[in-house]
Amino acid sequence: MGELKILRQSKTETKSENTGDVPAELIKFRDAVDSVSVEFDKLYKNALLRVGEREAGIFEIHKMMLEDEDFSSEAERLIKEEKFSAAEASKRAGEVLAQMFRGMETEYMRARADDIIAVSGRLCEFLRGESRSVELTSPCIIAADDLTPAETVMLDRDKVLGFVTERGSDMSHTAILARMMGIPAVVSVGHISDEYDGCTVLIDGEAGEVCIDPDEESLSRYRSSHFDAESEKARLDRMRGKTCVTSDGVRIIVCANVGDLADVDEAARHDAEGIGLFRSEFMFMSQTRAPSEDEQYEVYRAAVLKMNGQECVVRTLDVGADKRIPYITGDAKEANPALGIRAVRLSLRMPELLLTQFRALYRAAAVGNISAMIPMISLPSEVEAVRDIAAKARASLEADGIPYGKMKVGIMIETPSAAILSDLLAPMVDFFSIGTNDLIQYTLAADRENPDVAYLRHPLPESVRRCIRMTCSAARREGIPICVCGELGADTDETNFLIDAGVTKISVSPPYVLRVREAVMRKTGMTINRRI
Ligand code: PEP
Ligand code: MG
Repeated sequence: MGELKILRQSKTETKSENTGDVPAELIKFRDAVDSVSVEFDKLYKNALLRVGEREAGIFEIHKMMLEDEDFSSEAERLIKEEKFSAAEASKRAGEVLAQMFRGMETEYMRARADDIIAVSGRLCEFLRGESRSVELTSPCIIAADDLTPAETVMLDRDKVLGFVTERGSDMSHTAILARMMGIPAVVSVGHISDEYDGCTVLIDGEAGEVCIDPDEESLSRYRSSHFDAESEKARLDRMRGKTCVTSDGVRIIVCANVGDLADVDEAARHDAEGIGLFRSEFMFMSQTRAPSEDEQYEVYRAAVLKMNGQECVVRTLDVGADKRIPYITGDAKEANPALGIRAVRLSLRMPELLLTQFRALYRAAAVGNISAMIPMISLPSEVEAVRDIAAKARASLEADGIPYGKMKVGIMIETPSAAILSDLLAPMVDFFSIGTNDLIQYTLAADRENPDVAYLRHPLPESVRRCIRMTCSAARREGIPICVCGELGADTDETNFLIDAGVTKISVSPPYVLRVREAVMRKTGMTINRRI
C-alpha cells in the first residue's frame, strides 16, 4: 500500500533541427544539463549497488563530461550562431568533442569518444522527451502507461513499493524483472486517470488487483492477506537448508534467476542452490556503453564468490525484441523484433561482443563455478558457431597469458525448432535449460507482450508440454542436466508435471525459491505417465 505517483512520458520537443528562439533554447539546454546531471548521480548510486564501485565510476565520468565547459560552450555556440534547437546542438557538440577525443594519443583518451557520444545522446533524448526519468523522492507506488525493461532495471528498490501499468503482460521482461526484484506489480490494467495521482492505493501483485482509496473492507482484506503472507513466510522458512527431494527420492535442484549482483544477494538470502539464470543483458542495460571485459569479469567473479561454490549459470547477451540497448541495437526498427535479430543471432552478427563476454566468463571460471548459457538457439549450426567463438576466447586468453578455467556451455531451449532438434543438440552441449516464456510464445505464435493473446497460455497447452517432454527425453538419453528457467518453473501447479517429464533443476525468481522447494518436497510418486 502507498501513495500513487503517475509517470507520463512528456513529448514536448518539436523535432525541428533549427529554431529561431535562441533564449528559449539556451534555457532548455541549461535546464536539461541540470536534470541529466541529477540522473547521472542516481545512475551512479544504482550502479554502485548493482555492479560495484569500479564500474559505477563511469557515471561520475559522464557527469563530468556533461558539465564540461568545452561541451557546453560548443552547444551554446551552435544554439546562438547556427540557431540549432537545444537537442540538435547537444548532439552536434557531442560529435565535435568525440572527434577531438578520437585524435588523441592514448587509447584511454580515444575510448572517451564513445562516452561523450553517450552523454550527448542522453541529453538529446531527454530534450526530445524520448524517455522518462523515474526520479522519486519518497517511497510510493508508481503508475505508467508502460515501463521498458531498461526503466524497470533502474528503479530504486527502496523507493518503489510497487508499480501498475496500463499496458504490458505478465510474461514481459518488465513483469519478470519485477518478480526478480521482489516488487509487487500489476500490469495491463487499462487507462489510469491522472486524477488518481497522489491517492492511496493498494496493490496485490499475486491476485492482479489494484484498489484506489481503499475502504475499510478492502483494508481489512489487505491486513488479512498480509497476515497470510506472514504465516506463509514462517512455513517456507522451515524449508531452508533442506535437501530438495520428492518423497519418492527424485533430487531436484532449485536455483534463482537474477539480473545483477544485488539479485545474487537475494538468491543467497532465499537459500537458492545456485544461480540458474543470470540475465547478463541487464548489466548492459544499466550502462550507456558496453561493459568492458574487465568490468564484466569483476561482476561474474563477484557473483561466483557470493555463491560460494554453487553453480552460477550466466546467459550470454540476450538483447533485441523488447530489450533494446540503443548503443548495440541502434535505431533500426524491425517489423517483427521478437522474430528478428535477437539473442544469439545478434551475438553471431557482432562476434566481438560474444568473444569479450566469453573471455570474461572463462576468466571467472578460474575463480569459481560458472557456466555459460546461449539464448534462443534454433539450429545446430548456431551452436557450432558459438563453440568456435568460445574456442577463440580460450586461445586468445592462452596467448595473452591470462588465467582461465574450464567452463560448461549449455543452451536454452526456447524455440520449437530447438525442442524438435533436441536429440541433435544434446550431444553438442553440456546442459539444456528450457526458457518457457519464449518457448510458449514461439510455439503458440502468441506475442508474450500482448495481453490479448495471453489466454492461449492458460492452461499450459499440450503442444508446449510435448516440447518439454521431448527435450527432457533427449537430455536424459544424452545424460545432460535439464533445467526450466522460464516463469513456468514458479507455477507450483506444474511442478509435478515438470518433474515427471524429467526436469532435474528449476530456476525461479529469488522470492519463489522456497515455495518451489516446498512443492517439490510435497510431490509423491508419478502423477502422469511419462511419455517419451
Ligand atoms: C524464457 O524465455 O523463458 C527465459 C527464461 O528467457 P527470457 O524471459 O529472459 O526471454
Ligand atoms: Mg527467453
